[in-house]
Amino acid sequence: MSIKRTSKSTGAAARQPAASPSVRHIEVTAPQQMVPGDLYSGWRCKNKSCGLVIAIAAPRSGAKPSSAQSDDQLIVLKCPHCGDENLYRWSARGEQQYTPKGAAS
Ligand SMILES: [Zn+2]
Repeated sequence: MSIKRTSKSTGAAARQPAASPSVRHIEVTAPQQMVPGDLYSGWRCKNKSCGLVIAIAAPRSGAKPSSAQSDDQLIVLKCPHCGDENLYRWSARGEQQYTPKGAAS
């Protein structure tokens, strides 16, 4: 009856994001840096109520593009518009026209 279970150490520590080592984060362009009507390399937000363009941030000048890696990598993208975090396929990126919310005639 004197067995003390260290219930404090279990539970809370096990809450880690379920990200596999192959998942990486990508810098995205801030909405205020995006120009409506321009084409951006990126994805459409998976959040149906958002659906805006998540644009890959331009690599710093002098930096080598990291696209030489495996082309079908899963990446974690946080939508700069709605804050939704989702997994996207690197190979699924494309040219997306940025149309901000409220711009529809
Ligand atoms: Zn979004």
